[in-house]
Amino acid sequence: MTNPGMREQYLEAMGIPVWVLREAAVPEPAADEVQPADAGGTDSQEAAPTPGAPDTAGNGRAVEWSDLQETVRTCTRCALHEGRTQTVFGVGSRTADLLIIGEAPGAEEDRRGEPFVGRAGKLLNAMLAAIHLAREEVYIANILKCRPPNNRDPRTDEQATCTPYLQRQIDLLQPRVILALGRVAAQWLLQSDAPIGRLRGRTFEYGSQSTPLVVSYHPAYLLRSPLQKSRSWEDLKSVKRLLKDP
Ligand code: SF4
Repeated sequence: MTNPGMREQYLEAMGIPVWVLREAAVPEPAADEVQPADAGGTDSQEAAPTPGAPDTAGNGRAVEWSDLQETVRTCTRCALHEGRTQTVFGVGSRTADLLIIGEAPGAEEDRRGEPFVGRAGKLLNAMLAAIHLAREEVYIANILKCRPPNNRDPRTDEQATCTPYLQRQIDLLQPRVILALGRVAAQWLLQSDAPIGRLRGRTFEYGSQSTPLVVSYHPAYLLRSPLQKSRSWEDLKSVKRLLKDP
């Protein structure tokens, strides 16, 4: 959990004036109101379990995670496998309440095998910290597990081929809230062609579990368009409210 005293620093890192926080219509959660995710299995860059760490997610589920990860690691179901350095499975707590879904690995993600790294990853970490969540307390994955060449948008056929892996991750994780970051992830998950500006600011229900789903801007876009950070902050507050709902 984030030190509440550092919160304003994180907000400043996001480019959000502190007065936005103080004049927010919705009261901010107190630090002691935040319920941390259980310390279950965690994917590291290589997604290897911490030696000696208890598997509170249960052995059966841990095996399923492991099998799924190995299946993805060796997947050749679409042509994207030809250009990848490695697959980018996902990272974070396997008992997380919040699942963050992005688009596809970029160059650095492809090199490091982890989603949302580099400058966009740092901004995402700051965004999470602003709602009292550490990166390790959430789960982060992408629609695609392999990098599209030249960072082009994922094609529909690639998404259709790869998303059963993401769906299995969702089934195993059973998150309480999903945050879709960026147009590609939002449009695919919602099967919509509406612009992201019309998708954000609302709460959707996803899948058979009717999991609350919030859409917001991708951190890479926020780095290019910092004026949108205040809207992103509103989205994050929605996520926090949903996580607090019984
Ligand atoms: S993008 Fe997905 S379906 Fe295509 S090769 Fe990679 S893991 Fe397999």
